[in-house]
Amino acid sequence: AADWQGRKVTVAGLGVSGVPAARVLHGLGARVTVVNDGADERARAQAAGLEAEGITVRLGDGDTLPEGTELIVTAPGWRPDKPLFAAAEAAGVPVWGDVELAWQLRGLGGRKPAPWLAVTGTNGKTTTVRMLASILEAAGLRTAAVGNIGVSLLDAVLGDEEYDVLAVELSSYQLHWAPSVRAHSGAVLNLAPDHLDWHGSMEAYAADKGRVYEGNTVACVYNAADGATEDLVRKADVEEGCRAIGFTLGTPGPSQLGLVDDILVDRAFVPNRQKQAQELAQVSDVNPPAPHNIANALAAAALARAFGVEPAAVREGLRNFRPDAHRIAYVAEVGGVAYVDDSKATNTHAAEASLAAYDPIVWIAGGLAKGATFDELVAKSAERLRGVVLIGADRALIREALARHAPQVPVVDLDRTDTGAMAAAVREAARLARPGDTVLLAPACASMDMFVNYNKRGEAFADAVHALAAKDA
Ligand code: ADP
Repeated sequence: AADWQGRKVTVAGLGVSGVPAARVLHGLGARVTVVNDGADERARAQAAGLEAEGITVRLGDGDTLPEGTELIVTAPGWRPDKPLFAAAEAAGVPVWGDVELAWQLRGLGGRKPAPWLAVTGTNGKTTTVRMLASILEAAGLRTAAVGNIGVSLLDAVLGDEEYDVLAVELSSYQLHWAPSVRAHSGAVLNLAPDHLDWHGSMEAYAADKGRVYEGNTVACVYNAADGATEDLVRKADVEEGCRAIGFTLGTPGPSQLGLVDDILVDRAFVPNRQKQAQELAQVSDVNPPAPHNIANALAAAALARAFGVEPAAVREGLRNFRPDAHRIAYVAEVGGVAYVDDSKATNTHAAEASLAAYDPIVWIAGGLAKGATFDELVAKSAERLRGVVLIGADRALIREALARHAPQVPVVDLDRTDTGAMAAAVREAARLARPGDTVLLAPACASMDMFVNYNKRGEAFADAVHALAAKDA
């Protein structure tokens, strides 16, 4: 490990990754300065806490590179086109994200670092990583689901707990700032336009995702139905003997996992190529057994099998798995109409998966579009729409796409971005729905124009549905 004593490190951004990073580096003897754009009350409180411990904090200027900086450790969300990074590049200062820092510090104090099984993709990351952790646990391995999932990698790498293997969720932002991370095996679940404003282009976004394959030793797992993921495997520089392993909802080829009738099977990791595919689990073992989720299960199974997990543990792990809240979660039935919360559908690709699962639908959509377009989504879903209720900042983009591709569908444009708009949207949706319909919150947008995060948005939806049910009773 590098000697941190006296090294001048600039931590870019207070917050969930910045504050712990600053503390850890300070604890290692580095001279730490935290820079932050904002200077609101919360930032001032955090700054006061850090300064009391001897860490320098500069509020209100996240773009001036502090004198003598030898390394920047940035919050993953900071955009690469920020002036701070141009200054760093000009000065030859390396930039690490939170994941790179965890990677560099693993093994600190002489512990044996656990290998990483890494998952990225536009949608399904959290679900897949949690399925994977469940499978690894069923195999008796000491593991945790970490990364972009709530549990910080830094905690996992430096904490007291010992792990045999980590199930790591990596966002495209984190991968962008993680140049030397090398996973045992990695998966790109799918690739669709998202966060393009941040990355600058689809090519740059894909290239960042593709870093999850760099230096893999055993398997690069790709989606056989998404050629772009396989292209990334081809471009990656991997260790000798590392294999490309596909997953498919069809019959698997020799290096793939897939479906035969209603059984998840593995043809890639069979001991002898001549032998028949190995049965892993039934479709009904996957919760919920929707097509996109079976794909997630196959990807998780591929990574687990690459790590040597037996088929029986794959099945047990999938059976034990319970999905997280706000991901196609059934809320209640009111007046014969089902209400489903997919607040986590924060982009069009995710919304497409849940819109494909119901018919007819009253769709509640809108929020922050993040540079997306809605034509394809609306065109694909038009036939199943009973009606649409729009909320949020960028709702005009969806309204215009509806006018182009689904002119016959009634649209209620609430023209509101206040938090109370969700209750109004649910009432409007109830008016449009008929018994047997599904009212689906699948915003296809981020939530931050109206809510703190997608959890709060989903909770507001569920509260409104329960209020509706109380009135109905
Ligand atoms: P992520 O962590 O990548 O955001 P999640 O597992 O939290 O992914 O799922 C987010 C949303 O994406 C879900 O609510 C669902 O609408 C959709 N989704 C999940 N898996 C897939 C998939 N494989 N393909 C397309 N959409 C998916």
